Amino acid sequence: MSHGRPGDLILMGPPGVGKGTQARLLVDRNGWVQLATGDIFRDHLRRKTPLGELAASYMYKGSYVPDDVTVGMVRERIAEIPRETRVMFDGFPRTVAQAEALDEILAKQGRAIGRVILLDVPRDELLDRLASRATCSICQAVYSTGHPPKAPGICDRCGGAVVATARPDDSPDVVRKRLEVYSDQTEPVVRFYDARGLVRRVDGVGDVEDVIKRLLEAAA
Ligand code: AMP
Repeated sequence: MSHGRPGDLILMGPPGVGKGTQARLLVDRNGWVQLATGDIFRDHLRRKTPLGELAASYMYKGSYVPDDVTVGMVRERIAEIPRETRVMFDGFPRTVAQAEALDEILAKQGRAIGRVILLDVPRDELLDRLASRATCSICQAVYSTGHPPKAPGICDRCGGAVVATARPDDSPDVVRKRLEVYSDQTEPVVRFYDARGLVRRVDGVGDVEDVIKRLLEAAA
């Protein structure tokens, strides 16, 4: 562990658990930086870069982008973040190979993972959330029937228009595939960090503010 700074955080959990929303709120309030590989891929896709086109071919099928591509992208991004700033990884690492690569990348920079938080939501609720996902057209905050914006159609966070469309990878077939890939490839990552005693499990059901409180306690 590096001296004088809290370790970095990983927020884990299956698709639809609310990782993105919670991670955004947590980093905004605490001055941390969120590193969300899914967001970076979507940004490349919007800008139609070669990386975006490559990632899209995997994302739309519900499978993972190859490890070397994902790890390379994370390595570049981390290098831009000052060492004193706490990073919250969101959606990364998703495979044991990525977790091992992350150890190496962090060690070279005098950083280390201090805590892994596993957000937990029952499977039926996950499916419901994914089927009803709505996203702010400006800041990309995610809403659903169980977590609607306070004023209908208006983002709580930035006032942008909330568009009630699921992501292209939220169709039922792709969702089923994403959940399957999560249990095959990402649950082993939880065991990887469990073996080091780093994992805290947090109940992701309920009001966003309550979940945030639980997450903050787990991150401390
Ligand atoms: P997310 O927004 O985190 O749900 O990610 C959306 C999609 O991007 C995933 O279903 C994957 O296709 C891809 N993706 C995001 N993060 C990773 C990662 N760490 N490894 C491989 N693929 C990823």
